[in-house]
Amino acid sequence: MAENTDIQPGKPCPICAKPAVQQFRPFCSKRCADVDLHRWLSGSYVIPAAPDEDEDDDQRPPPPEER
Ligand SMILES: [Zn+2]
Repeated sequence: MAENTDIQPGKPCPICAKPAVQQFRPFCSKRCADVDLHRWLSGSYVIPAAPDEDEDDDQRPPPPEER
C-alpha cells in the first residue's frame, strides 16, 4: 500500500511508535521531531536493511561462476 500523504491522527510516531500528537504530528512530541530532524541534518537517515557497500564497482573482482 502506498504511503498516505495525508497524515491522520492516531498514526504512530515514526521515532518511538507512540501515538502521534496532532501538535507535533507525525511525531508524538517535540523531542521525537527533533530526533528526526537531527537524523536528516546529520545525514544518517538511512533505511535499515539497505546495504550501502557497493561503491567500489570498478574494484570488484570478476563475479563467481554461476551454476
Ligand atoms: Zn515519539
